[in-house]
Amino acid sequence: MKSPVLTIVVPCYNEQEVLPETILQLSSFLGEMVKEELVSEKSKILFVDDGSKDHTWQIIYKSSLKNEMIRGLKLSRNVGHQNALIAGLMTARKASDCVISIDADLQDDIHTIREFLIKFQEGYDIVYGVRRRRDTDTFFKRNSAQGFYNLMKKMGVDLIYNHADFRLMSKRALDELSRYEEVNLFLRGIIPLLGLRSTTIYYDRKQRLAGETKYPLKKMLAFSFEGITSFSITPIRLVLVIGFMSFCISFLFGAYFLGLKFFGHTEMGWTSLITSIWLIGGLQLIAIGLIGEYIGKIYSETKRRPKFMIDIDTFNMPIPRHIINDGGNENELFNPDFGKISETN
Ligand code: UDP
Ligand code: MG
Repeated sequence: MKSPVLTIVVPCYNEQEVLPETILQLSSFLGEMVKEELVSEKSKILFVDDGSKDHTWQIIYKSSLKNEMIRGLKLSRNVGHQNALIAGLMTARKASDCVISIDADLQDDIHTIREFLIKFQEGYDIVYGVRRRRDTDTFFKRNSAQGFYNLMKKMGVDLIYNHADFRLMSKRALDELSRYEEVNLFLRGIIPLLGLRSTTIYYDRKQRLAGETKYPLKKMLAFSFEGITSFSITPIRLVLVIGFMSFCISFLFGAYFLGLKFFGHTEMGWTSLITSIWLIGGLQLIAIGLIGEYIGKIYSETKRRPKFMIDIDTFNMPIPRHIINDGGNENELFNPDFGKISETN
């Protein structure tokens, strides 16, 4: 079998501290694999700059001038990890036999990529990288992640346990994925839904090489909530069940209070009254809020807004030789003749 064309997609948001090392490690590793003929020499690494505010794009761009293997995709603004990832995957789709996504901080062991490719050659369309242990994550992160998986399972969302976004997908899997047009994207939930032949590879998760996590608690909570409400209507159903239960309980209370009345103990009652007002009021607000959340989802889905906008794409439109020779003035990329020049190159 001919060696496959691999594209490694790396979403990057304010990653200037770690990026030079990541570029070095990934490109030398890909170089090795090309030499071993495990992958085709047309294989590339595609760095997606998710609207970073630091020098991330400059680093990507400069490296892509020096090394043919390195390509960059610059998004017009920050759209979040999942959307940046999908932008990279969809850009790489046509020119690749398989695509591997990995975070820029190299917490995931790049050497596992070799095993991914072996599985791909065996005919698997999706290979999930699964963390064996999370010793290097903080106590809080480990436990909150655990809680997240358990909660998702209870809500009926089929997730691969301890798998983040380190995975291989074949061209076929990407083509299928491109048919999912939802705006509220939660890749980890969607990919198992494709139902293609898949397998898992275990690896040890390491510490972030440099820089800080781009997922502080607030973003993590938002991400889990997104995951739950995009995939399951269990929360709404739960509200219904609670409502029904409190309705039944209120009957019992009614009977109790009637009993008190008959036996002449009616002076009390304020406490129970005020507590139930608060209880029912709270429940109603939760219910309305939850339903609102789903209506909000419907709202953003019906608008069908694009998930990202590409500013510069040096993957499908390689930088013309003359620009590289001139020292790679970035402004020339915005020249309307850019595409034409690269075709004649
Ligand atoms: N990331 C991104 N856009 C964002 C936030 C994060 O592209 O808005 C990228 C980030 O650069 C990294 C990956 O998503 O490559 C995962 O982020 P991070 O490592 O900070 O998350 P953690 O591993 O702490 O969960
Ligand atoms: Mg990380």
